[in-house]
Amino acid sequence: MEQTVIKLAIQKSGRLSEKSIELLKNCGIKFVSNSSSLKTKAFNFPMEILFLRDDDIPRYVADGVADFGILGMNEIVEQNQEVEVIKKLGFSKCRLSIAVPNDFKYESIHSLEGKKIATSYPVLLEKHLQSVGVKAEIHEISGSVEIAPTIGLADAICDLVSTGGTLLMNGLKEVEEIFKSEAALIGNVNLTVEKKALLAKWMLRVEAVEKAQNNKYILMNVPNSAIEEVCKLLPGMKSPTIIPLQTEGWSSVHSVIHEDAFWEIIEKVKAAGAEGILVCPIEQMVL
Ligand code: ATP
Ligand code: ZN
Repeated sequence: MEQTVIKLAIQKSGRLSEKSIELLKNCGIKFVSNSSSLKTKAFNFPMEILFLRDDDIPRYVADGVADFGILGMNEIVEQNQEVEVIKKLGFSKCRLSIAVPNDFKYESIHSLEGKKIATSYPVLLEKHLQSVGVKAEIHEISGSVEIAPTIGLADAICDLVSTGGTLLMNGLKEVEEIFKSEAALIGNVNLTVEKKALLAKWMLRVEAVEKAQNNKYILMNVPNSAIEEVCKLLPGMKSPTIIPLQTEGWSSVHSVIHEDAFWEIIEKVKAAGAEGILVCPIEQMVL
């Protein structure tokens, strides 16, 4: 019987490409990618990777040409194809915002009434304007939206922003954020049982990588008299591991700590008497 293979579409080249490839590699899925190939097969996982323009991914996934796709929530919502959002991936974070030239007297969203706004995201913009009861003329353009006001094409723009540097360079100020975006995994809505099983296998790895990235392995030397106090400060997966040191009266204490609590825990264990504290990254974490 032929082996089931899942087809994943990722962006060929652009802001999502590197992180999408990194996500697969961190999950131990190995493949060769070069800039000219349109698809490739993983060596050690039943997965075929298709390299496409991000705009084409929702339709390919909806049609079943690809089973899954990785792209920005902005594009997923804008295109409104029949696909399922399986998981938000936490990278390529950005916002869709309205910006106006610095000399535009902007008081509120109502300042845009009757104005011309250039954007590549007409659906998201229209939805927002409708929700606040503003009527404006939406001018759809596919690239270099930020220059539209300078060349007299529009009074304002609605575009993706991450740092705001591009707006600044073009004499624009951000006035309204209308949508928060990040990369997400989408899937076809009619996946076979076999493909769902492969998805589950892959997601177990994705989650293990995510957990590992949020946690650190910590080792330290602790005088035996302080072990009880130090252990109370360390959560660990079950409880800390304690190994006696050659030096009498001292032990090595190992644990896993969450990144959020990282500095706070280090300060406290140090104050409790811990020395030689080492913090190491974790590659995978399966609970
Ligand atoms: P393609 O050639 O594949 O159509 P593109 O020009 O549409 O590429 P990119 O600029 O590579 O797309 O952006 C892809 C996605 O990256 C965006 O849809 C968005 O989700 C995300 N992104 C993250 N930060 C930014 C940013 N500062 N500006 C634009 N997009 C961003
Ligand atoms: Zn695109």
